[in-house]
Amino acid sequence: MNILVINCGSSSLKYQLINSDSEEVLAKGLCERIGIDGVLTYQPAGGEKEKSEIAMPTHNEAISAVLAALTGEKTGVVKSLAEINAVGHRVVHGGEKFTASCLIDDAAMKAIEECNDLAPLHNPANLIGIRTCQKLMPGVPNVAVFDTAFHQTMPEVAYTYGLPHEYYEKYPVRRYGFHGTSHRFVSAEAAKMLGKKPEDLKIIVCHLGNGASICAVDHGKSVDTSMGLTPLEGLVMGTRSGDIDPAIIEFVGKKEGLDLEGMNNVLNKKSGMLGISGVSSDGRDLGDAAAKGNKRAQLALDVFDYRVIKYIGAYAAAMNGVDAIAFTAGIGENNIEMRENVCAHLTYLGAELDKEKNNVRGEERIISTDASKVKLLLVPTNEELAIARDTLALVK
Ligand code: ADP
Repeated sequence: MNILVINCGSSSLKYQLINSDSEEVLAKGLCERIGIDGVLTYQPAGGEKEKSEIAMPTHNEAISAVLAALTGEKTGVVKSLAEINAVGHRVVHGGEKFTASCLIDDAAMKAIEECNDLAPLHNPANLIGIRTCQKLMPGVPNVAVFDTAFHQTMPEVAYTYGLPHEYYEKYPVRRYGFHGTSHRFVSAEAAKMLGKKPEDLKIIVCHLGNGASICAVDHGKSVDTSMGLTPLEGLVMGTRSGDIDPAIIEFVGKKEGLDLEGMNNVLNKKSGMLGISGVSSDGRDLGDAAAKGNKRAQLALDVFDYRVIKYIGAYAAAMNGVDAIAFTAGIGENNIEMRENVCAHLTYLGAELDKEKNNVRGEERIISTDASKVKLLLVPTNEELAIARDTLALVK
């Protein structure tokens, strides 16, 4: 079966066509500048990347362009749309309504729409992607895979904020967490690498990319995670502040003449490693600048690592122990020095990094010493494959 995986943003769209039998990626790419002009990137497996300008006033034209590329005569990977059997959509927020992936019907569409309030930038775009696929590929089943669903197992004590309880009852303001598809995939993969079942382990997953979050996975279930009502909470990220004293919002807002929306923009887009360094939000740029002696770039990297160290400690405490710690996503998979710095602070747990094994990027590998009590692992994430697997399971 061929499954199209779609991750629809407000002005961009990432896609992969996956053969669910072999789990091979047949083609992948993205649409950018939807609603502005439109650029399609398309890459068939083993082929060159093709970039073309195609008018994309709406997502309709963007998805049409993707389908045309996939079925194209010269570099297409399927003969016709009939060879695309199902579509899996990443949906950002499932609120408390979705505890797992689901086959999309009218009731599911309505329930996703009811979560728009919680993710006003993302969910509406995800819904547009689903509606467009329903229109362009009638009869092909669509599946929604939620960023929040894996975390719905969190106990009340972990998801309750220290706020008047009526805000939870009315709105519902609580911790939801994100990157759930990645945390689920990586924790399962880590267990496999250790020859165990997720149900037998306490695992901390560090998903460290431009957006970053940590998750405590206790016997296969998410019991706490660092992102909250929105992805702003927790770690210091590329451009997001992560945890701050909430009183800063009023304090700085008054001084800088910024209203709540203005402050929200600062906290989401101008803070984090970009804000601290004044150089870049990208870990590689910061590494280069720090190597040339830029002190603020070094400070940004140090603050990032320090927050990761603190959260690992918190989650080891929350689970009353930890068997394995897994690193994933752009920074987690590729930044050797970050892993070294963080793991140097985990010896109290009995975790011992093997510096030679750690000298690797983007490859599945156990990076702790044989004697290490807590296993350290590098596990490349693959959210698209996880979405394709869920889609297959639901449409089979
Ligand atoms: P997102 O999916 O949240 O946009 P990614 O998971 O792609 O983010 O991670 C992006 C981050 O990973 C950037 O900070 C980038 O610098 C870092 N990264 C990617 N490749 C490398 C590398 N080879 N070495 C160090 N950092 C890297």
